[in-house]
Parts: sequence; C-alpha cells; structure tokens
Amino acid sequence: MKVLLKSGKLVEIDTRYLFHNQYNTIEGKRIFDSEILRVVDDVRGEYGKCRYCGAIIRRGEEEKHFKERENAGCINCFWCFDRVTDRQTTTEIEMYNNERVRVRKTIEKLEKACRYAENSPETSGCTLKECRRMGIDWFTPENTFFLKFPDGFSPLPVIDRLGAAGFSVESRFLNATYHKKIGSYTLQAILVYTDGKPYGVECFRLYNSRIDYRFMPAVDGLYIKSNSTWKKFRIAKSVQRTIENHSSSPRRTTGPSGSLEITSGKTIHSAGLLNLMRRAYSCD
Ligand SMILES: [Zn+2]
Ligand SMILES: [Zn+2]
Repeated sequence: MKVLLKSGKLVEIDTRYLFHNQYNTIEGKRIFDSEILRVVDDVRGEYGKCRYCGAIIRRGEEEKHFKERENAGCINCFWCFDRVTDRQTTTEIEMYNNERVRVRKTIEKLEKACRYAENSPETSGCTLKECRRMGIDWFTPENTFFLKFPDGFSPLPVIDRLGAAGFSVESRFLNATYHKKIGSYTLQAILVYTDGKPYGVECFRLYNSRIDYRFMPAVDGLYIKSNSTWKKFRIAKSVQRTIENHSSSPRRTTGPSGSLEITSGKTIHSAGLLNLMRRAYSCD
C-alpha cells in the first residue's frame, strides 16, 4: 500500500496500524488524507479495527480474535483479583528452640473476581469479553474517503464557467483566485495548477467571520472537509424539515443571512447554508 503525496512523492505505508483518514509511513511518519492525492493498493477494505482493544482484524477473522481474548480467561484480565470469602485465625503456643512462642495462623479462602465486571454491570462482564460486545469497526467506502475515491476527487473542469457563475478573478497574486460574495459569505473556488496554469477546481471554500467550509460536489452528494478528510454531508433532521416546510410554503423565503448554523462533525444544521453550497458552483 502506497500513497501519493501532493508533492508528487510516492510513500510506502506501514499496514500494521490502519486508520480511516491517516497513515503511518514505513519511516515512522504520520500523514493525513489532506496531504495526499491518491492511495495505491489500499488494503483497508480487507480490515477493521477492534472497537475495544484496537487490534487490526482481517475480514473473516473476527471470531478468532474474540475467542482468543475470551479463552485467555478473566485470570489474564487486568481487573482480575483474589477476593477473600472466608478467614479463620487460630493461635497456638509452640516450642521454638526451647522457647515458648505464640504462632498465629490465618487461613483465607479466595475466589477469583473481576473488578471490571463489578464496577461496570452494563458491560459483558470482563474486559476480555468486551471485544465481542463492541465489535469491529470495518473500513468501508462509507467511512473511509480513499476507499470510495482511491484517486481523490478529480478537479472540476469548470474554470471557464466561473465567470458566468459570478466569480470575479483576483489576479494580483502568483496564483489567481476566483471568488464571489453571497450575502455575508465569500465563496472561493480553489484551483489546481500545473506550471502556473489552472486546470480545474480542487474544491470550494465558503466562509465568513464565523464559519469556514471546504466542500466538493460528487456524484452521490456534497462532501465537506472535516478533520483533514472528506466526509459526506449529513443533513440534520431539523434542516430536512425546514427544507420541506419551505418548499410547501411559498410565502417563506430561505436565505443565508437568517439561517441558524450549528455544526457538529459533518452535519450541517442550516438549510440556508446547504442551499448556498448546492447553488454555489452553478450559474443561477
Ligand atoms: Zn479486541
Ligand atoms: Zn475480567
């Protein structure tokens, strides 16, 4: 498995530890989705990560993993301890080198107990059974951007249309920028260049003093950059309702200025913002 860095360098990945949006190189460096263009021979589709212990598990070998942990028995569990269930003390006088000594003998009966089980009754009862209870977080195209788009997003060949879509060109800089104002927001088309010539839109950026989103339209919907990777838009239920209400009631208008924006991860809680992003790169 290799990744192609934006710098053009192809880097070998250490596949012993796998992640959704980052990579360990065999030289021991950590790199992120946002630093790469594509993944070659991605092995992640074959693997998942144990949600409890973090072990990397190959598809079909999950049962083996669960059994290995369970078969170790609680005696190998960090929380296993000896509990005293009965204690008897006897005292006797004995002769020791011609002297009378008092010998006190304590007999304790022990049983193995798991403090984890006792402190967390809602769990499976032992740390070694928790792997099975919590299961495997498989790497899938839905949760791992480069499994779905191994070559990343191809640049959108829409530069010629940006002018018609209302973008103005700022060419004072080394690389020209294209942007337009929409209410309080600035929409910027971030371009990709070869030899100083732009050949496509890498993504769009929508921002004002409070928000800053990078987004990209794809065949199956909008993607937004979150935690240095691309994640598919999830529309919050409240926004879904707002959109439905708006479309059934012509008197109400939707706009970016009046909309409430709260974001948590990749969920956008604003109908106005969503419409803005959908319209952003079109000419209407
Ligand atoms: Zn595990
Ligand atoms: Zn245990």
